[in-house]
Amino acid sequence: MHVTIVPCLKDNYAYVLLAPGSKRAVVVDPGEAEPVARVLAAQGLALGAVLATHHHADHVGGTRELARIFPGLRVLGHASDRGRIPEQNEFLEHGASVIVEGLEFDVLHIPGHTLGAVAYAGQGAVFTGDTLFAAGCGRLFEGTPAQMYESLNVKLAALPDEILVYCGHEYTAENLRFAAHLEPSNAAVSTKAAQVADKRSRGEFSVPSTLAEERATNPFMRIGSLELQKSVASSLSGDRSPTAILGAVRAAKDKF
Ligand code: ZN
Ligand code: FE
Repeated sequence: MHVTIVPCLKDNYAYVLLAPGSKRAVVVDPGEAEPVARVLAAQGLALGAVLATHHHADHVGGTRELARIFPGLRVLGHASDRGRIPEQNEFLEHGASVIVEGLEFDVLHIPGHTLGAVAYAGQGAVFTGDTLFAAGCGRLFEGTPAQMYESLNVKLAALPDEILVYCGHEYTAENLRFAAHLEPSNAAVSTKAAQVADKRSRGEFSVPSTLAEERATNPFMRIGSLELQKSVASSLSGDRSPTAILGAVRAAKDKF
């Protein structure tokens, strides 16, 4: 699978996906139509499907216009996002597998940021929207800490180390600053922060990361770290469960 990273809006990423030899593409999270249509035109591609990770406008705002340009466009999202994703015509459940333009993906329901958030895993990659960011996670707009814990540390954590993680925003440098604040002695965090600063200074994207990198640097996947636990201990009442720790880390990030 070939992946073209398409910056949208201020700091969003859409991803144009193509099976080998195909002239029909798939796009993940078209926050706006114009940059996506430009990439398709430059490569002489038609668009067959939209994979929506969740209903927020900065991820699906371009869907209506793309459906107008490409009649018959498939628009996939979680079943519970019915009515919230423009032009949605396929309604997915956890554990489904979908084939779009020759590319097969497993659907993971990963509530937390929103209740209908999904990830698409396949072809050695996973598209995580605003649930799992490089070195971070999305705000809990609709879900609970318990849901976010399960989404990140049970469902996404079951994917292999080497899988490429494509997330919804370029937030990595800022996320790593928070990670270093929680775990000042985590060498993987400082090493990655230097790499990301270097990439960004050259105008390159920080994405994709790998799941192994997330396990090593992402505070929301490092709930077992004693140093991290110590950093948020003062905001924990009696409850020291993994869910409570994740909730405390998320609350600390909201104020960071
Ligand atoms: Zn969002
Ligand atoms: Fe977003």
